[in-house]
Amino acid sequence: MEAGEDCCVKVAVHIRPLIADEKLQGCKDCVAVVRGKPQVQLGTHSFTFDHVYGSTGSPSCAMFEECAAPLVDGLFQGYNATVLAYGQTGSGKTYTMGTGFKDGYQSGIIPQVVNVLFNKIGTLKHQAEFQLHVSFIEILKEEVRDLLDPSSMSKVDTANGHVGKVTSPGKPPIQIRETSNGVITLAGSTEVSVATLKEMAACLEQGSTSRATGSTNMNNQSSRSHAIFTITLEQMRKINIPNGSSLNDTMSEEYLCAKLHLVDLAGSERAKRTGSDGLRFKEGVHINKGLLALGNVISALGDEKKRKEGLHVPYRDSKLTRLLQDSLGGNSKTVMIACISPADINAEETLNTLKYANRAR
Ligand code: ADP
Ligand code: MG
Repeated sequence: MEAGEDCCVKVAVHIRPLIADEKLQGCKDCVAVVRGKPQVQLGTHSFTFDHVYGSTGSPSCAMFEECAAPLVDGLFQGYNATVLAYGQTGSGKTYTMGTGFKDGYQSGIIPQVVNVLFNKIGTLKHQAEFQLHVSFIEILKEEVRDLLDPSSMSKVDTANGHVGKVTSPGKPPIQIRETSNGVITLAGSTEVSVATLKEMAACLEQGSTSRATGSTNMNNQSSRSHAIFTITLEQMRKINIPNGSSLNDTMSEEYLCAKLHLVDLAGSERAKRTGSDGLRFKEGVHINKGLLALGNVISALGDEKKRKEGLHVPYRDSKLTRLLQDSLGGNSKTVMIACISPADINAEETLNTLKYANRAR
């Protein structure tokens, strides 16, 4: 399919620079971008996307404007949207989304979304009343974990010195539900009402910290789970209903509600590389379930012919796709950002990522 406005899923590739560790190992850059085109070459393979950032593609700073800003605008028009960062562990997903709190996370998508959102609300506050809610959850092994749960506080386990999350006992698990009009809700998850940029940034920080400290083995845990930061915007808009004569226009109000999911997906590397012990393998399988279902859903949505034939979109195949159901496809806007490392040692996984992303178009 040609890159175009009519497709509901846009796919971008974000190529990070070689990192210090890769340079130390003597890695070579094996990813090329065709000059002036959103086209990536890896060996004999060539793929075209909607946008390519980094390396010699467009600069990363253009990514927010092209990929996320239109979705924030859509939010004010009542359209749900989803931004997904896909790629192997270490490819730059967390950096791209801004879900981590180190090295320049402020340039990530979420902090920029938060900025633009509050700027827009500032300029529109005379035309509408706004209410914002934030939730931040993680899906691990097909279970939903609340990253903003106030009753689960970080505490130091003095026995082994690990910082861990303590969830209040007896709290029912979070459930994904669908209302009669097709709205997906997360029953039992914390929805924080936020009034200021600072409050929203605090939610991002709290959840990110909670994600990183939720496990005794930080890196593995966060690379195997999907983290979903969701902003819900409710607005009561004042609208003029013209009556023919300007004197007796009727003032009315219109209620709009839309949400934006910002998703830092689990690492896409194959289960065989996740580890040999049984437990981890199981987790790998579960992660693949979400990523596999996501690939199938997005591919079904992108196939216009199949869409017209009323093809079944397999949302129910995983928690991830179920949760995103009302924000993928239909009137929703979806952007997938495939994150890749340019290093030759990652060529195999990079190729897998490019293939997955290519299938999404
Ligand atoms: P992932 O979340 O996919 O596992 P990270 O976002 O943690 O990957 O990135 C891995 C490493 O690469 C981090 O040290 C991060 O700071 C660095 N990195 C990622 N993307 C970029 C980028 N665009 N520019 C510079 N450094 C980056
Ligand atoms: Mg990460």
